[in-house]
Amino acid sequence: MGRRYFIAGNWKLHKSVPEALEFVRDFRRLVSQVRDCDIAIAPSYTSIWPMGQRLEDSPVKLAGQDLYFEGQGAFTGTVSGPQLRDAGCTYVLVGHSERRQLFGETLESSRRRMDAAFGAGLVPILCIGETQEERDEGRTSQVVGDQLDAAIEGFDLDTLQGMVIAYEPVWAIGTGKVATPQQAQEVHRMIRERLRARSGELAEGMQILYGGSVKPSNALDLLGQEDIDGALVGGASLDAASFAEIVKARPSR
Ligand code: PEP
Repeated sequence: MGRRYFIAGNWKLHKSVPEALEFVRDFRRLVSQVRDCDIAIAPSYTSIWPMGQRLEDSPVKLAGQDLYFEGQGAFTGTVSGPQLRDAGCTYVLVGHSERRQLFGETLESSRRRMDAAFGAGLVPILCIGETQEERDEGRTSQVVGDQLDAAIEGFDLDTLQGMVIAYEPVWAIGTGKVATPQQAQEVHRMIRERLRARSGELAEGMQILYGGSVKPSNALDLLGQEDIDGALVGGASLDAASFAEIVKARPSR
């Protein structure tokens, strides 16, 4: 299969700069032997540059939690792709459900953010997922499919090979309510099949992460599923030991 595992942490609105640097010191040591897994952390914007200074020769990469689709201008309170890149990011989250639900991001704006991320040389981690209500109504495939299609519309295959997808059922984010490995695998398979309709190579190469209450105790079962290539971790990424445990909880591929 050949896809590398990828474990990414999303710190949301947590940690001061000193706390972020303390985490880096501990986490670097804990994952120093890990070679066969991509690792990234999305800290608050204020911690990106100082963390990057301490991660220069490390396999641990940095991600923005969002970006605005304009490169510069009178857009108070936003951050651009070039600024994230310049500060040391490799990745950027696009369309996280908290951005969609709390800050009004739309299908169209996530596509524009994808464009801005590609344009800045960042790897977008596109977050897609259904709410509890949508799942109860049997609309998971349609909702997740629509979010995916809208975000990747119009990009050529070469460009799309430079992205990552995170399936994050909204009902499982920050709730402690994790999807079963089978529930997650079913949606991951659907996403990969949808990509296959565009290109087999794109589908086979795409890292599709699961996100939603991933912890050291459930990571191995989730990561053991055929179409789950990693995890996007919120709460459990705030502690260096628990995040490192998730990084190490991979079956061999
Ligand atoms: C997230 O923020 O993307 C997330 C999955 O959070 P948690 O792991 O806390 O559910």
